[in-house]
Amino acid sequence: MALKHSSALPPEMLRVFETLPQPYLILSPELFILTASNAYLQLTGKTRLALAEQYLFDVFPKVPDWSSEDGGISFSLNKVLETRQPHQLPVMRFDIPNAADPSQLEERYWNTAHTPVFDAEGDMSYIIHHTEDVTQQVITERNLKQSLENEIIAAAKARNLSRQMEKLFEEIPAQIAIVTGPNLVYEFINPRYKNELFPNREVLGKPLLDVLPAIGGQPIWDALQHVYKTGETYTGNEICIPLADEPGGPTQDHYFNVFYQALRDESGKIVSVLSFKYEITELVLAKNRHEQNKQDLLAANLNLANANEEIQATNEEITSANEELSAANEELFQAQQDMLKLNDELEERVQLRNIELFNAQAAAASQRDRLKRFFMQVPTGICILDGPEMVFELVNPAYQQLFPGRDLFAKPITEALPELAGTPIIDILKNVYYTGNTFEGKELLVPLARTVNGPLEDRYFTFIYQARHDADGTVDGILGFAFEMTETILTRQKEEENQQRFRFLLNAMPQQVWTARPDGFLDYVNEVICDDFGQSMEEILGRSLQEFIHPDDRQISSQKWKAALQNADEFMVEFRLKFYNGQYIWHLVRAVPLVENGQVRLWLGTNTNIEIQKNNEQKKDEFLSIASHELKTPLTSIKAFNQLMQRTTDAQKLNSFVQKSAAHVLRLEKLINNLLDVTRINAGKIAYNMEPFSFLEMLKDSIESVQQATTSHQIILEKADDVTYTGDRFRLEQVVNNFLSNAIKYSPEADRVMVNCTLHTDNSLIVSVQDFGIGIEEKNLMRLFDRYYRVDNTAMRFEGLGLGLFISAEILKRHHGSFWIESVPGKGSTFFFRLMLHPAQKTEPVIDGNRYYQDSTITLTYNQEHNRIDADWTGFQNLESIQKGCLRMLDMLKKNKVHRILNNNIHVLGNWSEAADWSNTEWFPAMEKAGLRYFAWINSPSVFSQLSALKSVDTLVGKIVFRFFNDVEPAIKWIDSK
Ligand code: ADP
Repeated sequence: MALKHSSALPPEMLRVFETLPQPYLILSPELFILTASNAYLQLTGKTRLALAEQYLFDVFPKVPDWSSEDGGISFSLNKVLETRQPHQLPVMRFDIPNAADPSQLEERYWNTAHTPVFDAEGDMSYIIHHTEDVTQQVITERNLKQSLENEIIAAAKARNLSRQMEKLFEEIPAQIAIVTGPNLVYEFINPRYKNELFPNREVLGKPLLDVLPAIGGQPIWDALQHVYKTGETYTGNEICIPLADEPGGPTQDHYFNVFYQALRDESGKIVSVLSFKYEITELVLAKNRHEQNKQDLLAANLNLANANEEIQATNEEITSANEELSAANEELFQAQQDMLKLNDELEERVQLRNIELFNAQAAAASQRDRLKRFFMQVPTGICILDGPEMVFELVNPAYQQLFPGRDLFAKPITEALPELAGTPIIDILKNVYYTGNTFEGKELLVPLARTVNGPLEDRYFTFIYQARHDADGTVDGILGFAFEMTETILTRQKEEENQQRFRFLLNAMPQQVWTARPDGFLDYVNEVICDDFGQSMEEILGRSLQEFIHPDDRQISSQKWKAALQNADEFMVEFRLKFYNGQYIWHLVRAVPLVENGQVRLWLGTNTNIEIQKNNEQKKDEFLSIASHELKTPLTSIKAFNQLMQRTTDAQKLNSFVQKSAAHVLRLEKLINNLLDVTRINAGKIAYNMEPFSFLEMLKDSIESVQQATTSHQIILEKADDVTYTGDRFRLEQVVNNFLSNAIKYSPEADRVMVNCTLHTDNSLIVSVQDFGIGIEEKNLMRLFDRYYRVDNTAMRFEGLGLGLFISAEILKRHHGSFWIESVPGKGSTFFFRLMLHPAQKTEPVIDGNRYYQDSTITLTYNQEHNRIDADWTGFQNLESIQKGCLRMLDMLKKNKVHRILNNNIHVLGNWSEAADWSNTEWFPAMEKAGLRYFAWINSPSVFSQLSALKSVDTLVGKIVFRFFNDVEPAIKWIDSK
């Protein structure tokens, strides 16, 4: 296409255009290039010659943008031709070749305008094409826009983070407060602080000391002041803070792990103190109780020597609790670096924006900084898990401390703590991540290794997992808070174990053991007490021991108890306690207070059965008074006759005095012989001269000698089988003499005494002496054969030392014999003794097995259904038969591992008593060792036999619980309930 002439430009004008510092093209209305400015040539890299007089789109045809119709140059030029108005194109991208390397295009943006120029006639002579490189501006704008967008996202993220952290602040199971100014005025408290410390009052705006006056003198107050003054952070464990529920109310000791940190203003001046603490009162009390338990055990030990071993076992050291508050480690640095990086980036971008925005952001950053610093320093484990992979994005030192040396940071949780794979924790975390619901776990057991390659440990945690949201509100991570409770749980478990061990120990004591509150009411009693009183622990606890004391002993006991309570002094007194069967048994109580900080915390008492000692003492006292009286009476008479003998010269009188005096000497001699016999029996030194002799002769001799000394009674030998018996004739005569003289002595109103001696088919010889005198009450029967025992009402009326029957019993025992009494008070008594002609002869068992045994004196059955042994005794029993039956029972008990026995004496005909000592000292202890715990004893119809039974258990101390019954039914009911 040729250039139109009308478009020619005057040369000077051309030069002006050419030298313009901006890129210009001058086009003809037909779009031929008339000229270009030097700046344009430079920009496009073309020569003037290459452009001159060329059709515009011939020169730049290949560039689509340039020639495009839609909003492009041609469009703009057409607009100008059409409208005869200047036209401005929007900023367009048009890349141009790089000056250094023309094969590479450079990103460029252009601002293009076309301006028509008219001649004097109004015809369009040229169009000026003007383009401007706005690349720098566009890129700057774009960057700014981008930065703005980023900034919005980052700010939202930051806002979100601090909101999450604030939420955590509220939910963190720790008490957080900020106190401000020299008076430490409450400025902020989190909900837990309020709920736990001041549920009922408003403390914001009040100085700390006004709210908690009790801490004024405490070291914790000094610590707070110190932090405020110096800015040094304070960390304290197990700090005691006395707190009142209400202003002015009574205070109670609470224990905390405490962390105080100074907060500064922009200028670095300390303005307030941030307090972070969590309560560990329960832990401390548990530890104290544990300590106390140790002390209790020690006290019990002092009291009860045989408890020594168990107590020592509890003397293990308790490791110190709570290492949560520890110094920051390297991970802190790492985590801080990361946070700082995020911050730096934010701040860098913020720089692009205006100062105002910068300032606002800087303030926000410092706020975040403070929060971040706080989170890095709090003594509670905090972590942030990022993304669905749950990568540790933040691990504060306290969290790291839960796993010292383990590499957590920047690792997914499943990789950092692979042992979690088998636990519910991963599912819990996923659930939080996908539902956004917060999870709170209390004292959950999580087996975790503490150190790298360390062993899996059963650890307990209280924790909170909370979803973290991004700017759009979508969950993008988890905020975790964790607090290890292992020590608390273990201490608690240990304490429970100790408590159990303590109980076990107290239950193992063979005597009554109890503890009482400081006010004296029982708060623990061992099984011995429950069994003795026949009541359950629940029934006894909360009551006072006084209730079980004999009314006559109550006053002195209560006086002493009150004094002991008042002075926190040892309590010791003797009293009778009422047993399940209504019987009162003498006990010596000894209780010691356990004092803690000058206050009685608990009383530990033992009641020792002193019934036997008491009785012995009493008997001894009685004996001494009787003996001196008994010895003095004949002595006084002898003395009197001696004086008479000295004064008289009458031979006849003299002879009578000598005879009378001799009778008293004889009585004195008898008394002294009895006393000597007792001494010999006690020393085991009575010599027996065993020889065969005619039993009937011996009986007759005895009757004759007693009859000679009495005129009031006739001794009648009703029936007498004669046998040759092998034994000590002299000693057996002593027995018969004693029975006969007692029969006469204790029947002053009667005139005869009946004697029988019969041989039975079982080769036993039974001798009986019957009188029609005062008789003996049942309650006294059994004790008659005890040393020094004399029935109360006879003691004053009849002379005697209470030794005769004791000696007789001893002599019969040595002859393998047995004795018993049947008596009706006011009607008379019959004294029996039984001797075996062939004592060595044994009865053969009829059936002998592990579960069943039978011979002529006993049947033993192992009752599998009720897991007990049923023993049925029959006929007369002597030491041999009883020992044999008992040893069988022991054997069956062991073989079948039974601990309950139903012992039936309903078919027992006579005595039992000589085996009582043996059962008492040997058999029952062996049975207890073999596991016997409950023994139901069904009484024999023979009173004496019943008493023998009582005698064989009455001094027993131990774990076996006995109950006596008159019928089988209730006995079975009781034993099966055990
Ligand atoms: P003593 O007769 O010297 O007191 P014993 O040992 O012979 O001593 O008797 C002990 C006690 O038994 C007597 O004090 C008495 O109370 C009681 N006693 C013994 N025999 C009889 C009897 N036949 N009738 C009633 N009571 C008796």
